[in-house]
Amino acid sequence: MPRNPNAEPKPFVLVPIPSQAPDCRRIVTHEQFSGLTGRLELTFTVVSEYLFVGSGAYEFDPNARGDRPDVWYTFYRRDGQICVPGTSIKGAIRAIVEAISNSCVSQKHRRERISSRRHEPCQFQNENSSLCPACRLFGTTGYRGRVHFSDFLPSGDVKTEIVKIGELWEPKRYDPVRRRFYEQKRFEAVGDTRPQSGFRFVEAVRREAQFRGALIFENLTGAELGLLFHALGWAVEGERVTIAFAPKIGGAKPRCFGSVQFIPDQLRLWNSKLGGLLAPQVMTGRDVLPFLFRCLQECQKSELLHSESWKALKQGFQPQNEPCPKEVY
Ligand SMILES: [Zn+2]
Repeated sequence: MPRNPNAEPKPFVLVPIPSQAPDCRRIVTHEQFSGLTGRLELTFTVVSEYLFVGSGAYEFDPNARGDRPDVWYTFYRRDGQICVPGTSIKGAIRAIVEAISNSCVSQKHRRERISSRRHEPCQFQNENSSLCPACRLFGTTGYRGRVHFSDFLPSGDVKTEIVKIGELWEPKRYDPVRRRFYEQKRFEAVGDTRPQSGFRFVEAVRREAQFRGALIFENLTGAELGLLFHALGWAVEGERVTIAFAPKIGGAKPRCFGSVQFIPDQLRLWNSKLGGLLAPQVMTGRDVLPFLFRCLQECQKSELLHSESWKALKQGFQPQNEPCPKEVY
């Protein structure tokens, strides 16, 4: 297919893959009980126009006569209720962790080559294997990882609507030297609800919809937890914890869907230093912030955070008052 001469600007944030190799280290085994183990309850708010998390299924309206949606991709559901599966949040947060910690590039298509051979996906063989920071946290084939997300359920009354968008084309050419994320631009409505070739319908939730769930972690250092917090879009500024950006989750990202802002609700922390599993320490609301602050700071001081990549991503994720491409780009 010829390249579209009127192509709209590509909505990508590009983060160069550093020339240094990932800092691979021995894994932490699950038998040890050391470091920070706990559960952080989170709420996220949709800050883009829409969020769509598909299940691959679709529904149709047999009475549509060309004037309204006939077939649409449905939002993911669990027991009949819309829901954002933990795996889809984990995937999105992992991609950010990989970029900001200079980890291996785990999510590449089969035929893609990255020019840095040192960033090829890690291979786990046994307990003596060395893995990059992201694989040590999230796992890789053969190693379970120490970070999980629960499914996120709607908080309050969250309604869906059927939205018409241009078809989503996979970018033809991958980039062998940079990681690619989607920018936060302004959604552009197509303007009608007629079924039309080159367009599709998706069931989405609107801006300000909220979902609640949890980040579950075991045996992490403060710096590792701080790395996760950076990937959730948090940072320290002076003496405060601030929101640095809104990560993207779900589908239709090329149509500027999926930006969400995470807020901590409650933290339960099991302290290994006390020996044995005692009742957890519980912090709620603003009382969680000093802990977040410490972890974010420990991460900044450690070598886990690759500061150039962090800066590039943070800069690129700033919302832009520019329209999102409506059609093929
Ligand atoms: Zn890795």
